[in-house]
Amino acid sequence: MPQAQLLVIGAGPYGLSTAALAQDRGIQTTVVGHPMSFWRQHMPEGMFLRSGVDWHLDAGGEHTLAAFVEDRAIPREDLDPIPLQTFLDYCDWFRRMKRLTVREEIVTDLTKPDSAFDATLAGGDHILADAVVCAPGIRHFTNRPDWATSIPDALAAHTCDLVRFDELAGARVLIVGGRQSAYEWAALIREHGAERIDLVHRHEVPRFERVSWKFIDAHVERTIESRGYWRHLPKAEQDQIGRRFWEVGRLTLEHWLTPRLNWSGIHRWPGTEVVHADTSDDGNQLHVVLSNAQRLTVDRVVFASGYRADLTRVPYLETLIEDIQLADGFPVLDETFGTTIPDLYITGFSATRDFGPFFGFVKASPAAATLIVRKLTSHN
Ligand SMILES: Cc1cc2nc3c(=O)[nH]c(=O)nc-3n(C[C@H](O)[C@H](O)[C@H](O)COP(=O)(O)OP(=O)(O)OC[C@H]3O[C@@H](n4cnc5c(N)ncnc54)[C@H](O)[C@@H]3O)c2cc1C
Repeated sequence: MPQAQLLVIGAGPYGLSTAALAQDRGIQTTVVGHPMSFWRQHMPEGMFLRSGVDWHLDAGGEHTLAAFVEDRAIPREDLDPIPLQTFLDYCDWFRRMKRLTVREEIVTDLTKPDSAFDATLAGGDHILADAVVCAPGIRHFTNRPDWATSIPDALAAHTCDLVRFDELAGARVLIVGGRQSAYEWAALIREHGAERIDLVHRHEVPRFERVSWKFIDAHVERTIESRGYWRHLPKAEQDQIGRRFWEVGRLTLEHWLTPRLNWSGIHRWPGTEVVHADTSDDGNQLHVVLSNAQRLTVDRVVFASGYRADLTRVPYLETLIEDIQLADGFPVLDETFGTTIPDLYITGFSATRDFGPFFGFVKASPAAATLIVRKLTSHN
């Protein structure tokens, strides 16, 4: 059986960033996962990034998105906003530049029978490893309202699973949610010929403006410099940073959506929620009642209702989960992303409870890589 010093499970931004740095530092590293599969399979063609050219994967600061843009001579006007495909091309380039080989498989189980970990792959192979970094992202954490369980699967989908829109041409679509995904999916569904779109959300209609995420930079820097930075901040300060993050990311949506939403077929229902939903007798439509007594008949419901951490839903952690201490669905992590199982690290969105909201985004992937690899090399 092949034995690695480090096994990284997940080939999204966090997995790739950590694996590249570990390999660079001489740690014998194996990465398993389909590269950028969440971005390829669960984000729609035609989507734009909210983040800018300054967010990248390289803890060494060399193979950055800016360096890729320069290498390819991509004009500035093609990067505001950044198309999804450009970012995927960057991540492929990053892997090539780092000579990072990814084993394109799925881990189905992870155990720790003795001091080493044993990962089972879908094809039946095993990989043994002294240490494991899990970078599962948010795929397993989709959140839906309670009433969603009564809707037949054929009539409803989470945004994460609805990334092709051709079949919605001529359809009446209800979108539940009111943040960036809700409004960006509304624009995309409109552009694919929907007949009517209703957006239902409990809050007010967000602002659509250009925002700056620059304030995050200093916090991510301090996370690298000051051990346990986020957890040692006073609660009031954490809350204040969290509010700023909320303001920039949730209360404000991208300005480039405004013209794309300017269409009489889009109906916004702020301050409302669905209070009743019934499938029609033929099973092809939904009759919905909103909290303001408005009735709608729709062909499809899209849940743009976000993600909620619940580590128990990561399939390959089923065997070990009992030994991983959790709090509110998040793993309890030490200052180096270590879980309560020695040598098992978890990074990305799952680490936001202990490291701050930045760790759900590309921006903090080099910082997470730096802290984890620093810990791994301090053993040697
Ligand atoms: C619609 C949308 C738009 C977004 N836009 C932005 C943006 O503009 N900028 C930004 O910074 N962030 C954005 N995000 C957040 C984005 O999800 C995170 O920044 C990023 O994906 C975090 O990287 P990750 O590596 O933690 O997770 P992921 O990218 O989700 O990667 C997880 C990886 O795990 C692997 N995997 C899963 N299961 C297994 C298994 N069993 N075995 C092996 N491998 C497995 C796959 O390789 C997958 O690629 C967006 C999110 C959404 C939903």
